[in-house]
Amino acid sequence: ADYMYVMKCSKDGEFTQGEISRFGNIQLSPSAGAIYEGTKAYRKENGKLLLFRPDHNAVRMQLGAERMLMPSPSVDQFVDAVKQTAYANKRWVPPSGKGSLYIRPLLMGSGPILGLGPSPEYTFIVYASPVGNYFKEGIAALNLYVEEEYVRAAPGGAGGVKSITNYAPVLKALSRAKSRGVSDVLYLDSVKKKYLEEASSCNVFVVKGRTISTPATNGTILEGVTRKSVMEIASDQGYEVVEKSVHVDEVMDADEVFCTGTAVGVAPVGTITYQDKRVEYETGDESVCQKLRSVLVGIQTGSIEDTKGWVTCIN
Ligand code: PMP
Repeated sequence: ADYMYVMKCSKDGEFTQGEISRFGNIQLSPSAGAIYEGTKAYRKENGKLLLFRPDHNAVRMQLGAERMLMPSPSVDQFVDAVKQTAYANKRWVPPSGKGSLYIRPLLMGSGPILGLGPSPEYTFIVYASPVGNYFKEGIAALNLYVEEEYVRAAPGGAGGVKSITNYAPVLKALSRAKSRGVSDVLYLDSVKKKYLEEASSCNVFVVKGRTISTPATNGTILEGVTRKSVMEIASDQGYEVVEKSVHVDEVMDADEVFCTGTAVGVAPVGTITYQDKRVEYETGDESVCQKLRSVLVGIQTGSIEDTKGWVTCIN
């Protein structure tokens, strides 16, 4: 889209007044690292623009910044920057039902440093791009492959942070999975290689009867904003929602498996391949996944009344 929001920060954590500028290259010293966020603006049928829980992305960035020894914008600074960026790029928000404006806040070390240590300067940037619906037509089920060679994160590491470095270990696994014809990879814990973690860019849920289980966030998986929202919707609907260690055998024995994330929303999983086994799951209109999806997407796009205060209107 046309505009981005840029805000500089000194090493003592003072963020200067940020501003909207034309999207383009910026001048930086080689940097020490970056953490980022992802959220979307949706157009309601009446044309209004809606943001979904940007304050949760702000808090997640703050927790990540703390882990990475970076200063971070306050929740208000973050949300204001996201609103300004969405508003400045409003012509790029697709019509209702045709996609959304993906918004990416990025906090990077941008000062000169050679050694291993916090950067002497930081830059916070928010940029945006229109994206189509994740599923072009209808809702196609995802096919996943349980990865046993590559791991995504280890206990004590920074796997719970949305750091750009966390996506390096998954690139090869994901491209190998795609070349085998599956849509994504399911990562296992790095110690026992038996417990479910998440997929490359979404959280995972397992349904058995009226119980919905999802891996507990113990620092090795990203705590998704969609994950938290779907857990709340599911308990409102009377399901028992459990955060725990989910064994891979439980995944293979489930009625349903689904993924959650800003990109996919709530997406059904059609098949999972683990070693020499391949299991098929329910994905139809009556599935738990589809019911949760319709409520979540309804709130995000404004077709269902937001009784939870999750949605912010920006025009
Ligand atoms: N896990 C990973 C590794 C991700 O990159 C994402 C996308 N941000 C998620 C889970 C889902 O998080 P959210 O619901 O906040 O998009």
